[in-house]
Amino acid sequence: MNHDDLNHWSKRAADWTTDYHASLRDRPVRAPLTPGAIAAQLPALAPDAPEPMETIFADFEAIVPPGMTHWQHPRFFAYFPANASPASMLAEQLANAMAAQGMLWQTSPAVTEIEQVMVGWLRAALGLPEGFTGTIHDSATTTTLSAILTMREQATAFAGNIKGLSGSPALRFYASSQTHSSVDKAIRVAGIGQDNLVKIETDASFSMAPEALDAAIKADRAAGLIPAGVILCAGGTSIGAFDHIADCITVAKSHDLPVHVDAAWAGSAMICPEFRTLWRGIEGADSIVFNPHKWLGVQFDCAIQFLRDPTPQVKTLGLRPTYLETAGREEIVNFNEWTVPLGRRFRALKLWFTLRAYGLDGLRERIRNHVLWANEACDALATIRGVRIKTQPILSLFTFALKSDEATEALLTRINDDGRIYLTQTRHEGEYVIRVQVGQFDCTREDVMMIPQVIAELMVP
Ligand code: PLP
Repeated sequence: MNHDDLNHWSKRAADWTTDYHASLRDRPVRAPLTPGAIAAQLPALAPDAPEPMETIFADFEAIVPPGMTHWQHPRFFAYFPANASPASMLAEQLANAMAAQGMLWQTSPAVTEIEQVMVGWLRAALGLPEGFTGTIHDSATTTTLSAILTMREQATAFAGNIKGLSGSPALRFYASSQTHSSVDKAIRVAGIGQDNLVKIETDASFSMAPEALDAAIKADRAAGLIPAGVILCAGGTSIGAFDHIADCITVAKSHDLPVHVDAAWAGSAMICPEFRTLWRGIEGADSIVFNPHKWLGVQFDCAIQFLRDPTPQVKTLGLRPTYLETAGREEIVNFNEWTVPLGRRFRALKLWFTLRAYGLDGLRERIRNHVLWANEACDALATIRGVRIKTQPILSLFTFALKSDEATEALLTRINDDGRIYLTQTRHEGEYVIRVQVGQFDCTREDVMMIPQVIAELMVP
């Protein structure tokens, strides 16, 4: 295949894309397959001889779409969305065409400089104060890992990277039980040890109790352990819980501890000023992550980290061997020094396209509709006999259950086998519950109201 062929097949792929998106509502949201069904259709070994693109494309059409869970389906209400607006898909195609690796400013100045400007646009759009700067990571998980590594190094006067952690007193981190498992993973990967992630109790709103945080830090200090940082939750994955950001930051600062806030999902909603009371006090954070790839329509993957001061993170993650030096240009930013991987995709391009093609007003309208429709769907579900709303909507996420875990689980199986909508589960206060989140870029009110309709049909009398 050469570049002329690429032109031909790109046009064919564009036509296929149009048909695919137009057909989504007719497809089951979740792939209705048994494990191994796709792999069984592929030969065991790679071909020795080249194959014609005609055959490869035909196999793609026959094998792949039926094996996909359709994340861009307007009735995808599972997990959190991984939204891809058409404008961001176009930007990804262009970024793929240039196929640059933006590890240094000089390996593509546009990659670095558009990233800097996009972080600035988003900072202002979310209502964060000037002074926050930041970068783009692949995921919230690696962003939180970067923040925890940085807090670890600050707590050890930057000796952890050089000498390792063995022999020093345990470093302690604090988070609530509502934080995402990516925090646990980062704590493990950073060598802190799961036992040193202190899960602080939550109050009636499932928010970290600031007094409990204060008490835990004091107890650890008294025991000779080293408090190193606090991770706060702004829109937890399970039920959407928000910690009391302002009060918890006040406690952390009274102990001179840095704070990282995980707003991976809910951060996008902060482009709407009326939702910002949920993370009141956010300007006191040292590091904040949010994923435009979740709810802002920016194709996966794209996680933004805002930093009050990038210096400690660059000191933690930056290495400059001779082969990465950029002689005579010490004033420029080399973003690989801010993140874990060296290589960097051109993620800022899809932000640029998305923010311009829809405007903040267009994106706000979508998010406001999602919140409104989630509330309407919740109200309608509450009227169905046997359905119990377990947690009320926080932004566009709520949960419900039936009379027992078994009945709830059986209903979820029936819903997802049916295929018209896709929902997933969590456990809340020990109970198995079904999560409903509304956030798909192209969903309509009609799509959302299909949730109570399908559930009413699938309830067993
Ligand atoms: N934090 C929260 C609140 C999440 O909901 C998720 C994923 O859904 C993550 C972190 C991890 O996100 P990522 O897939 O970008 O690592």
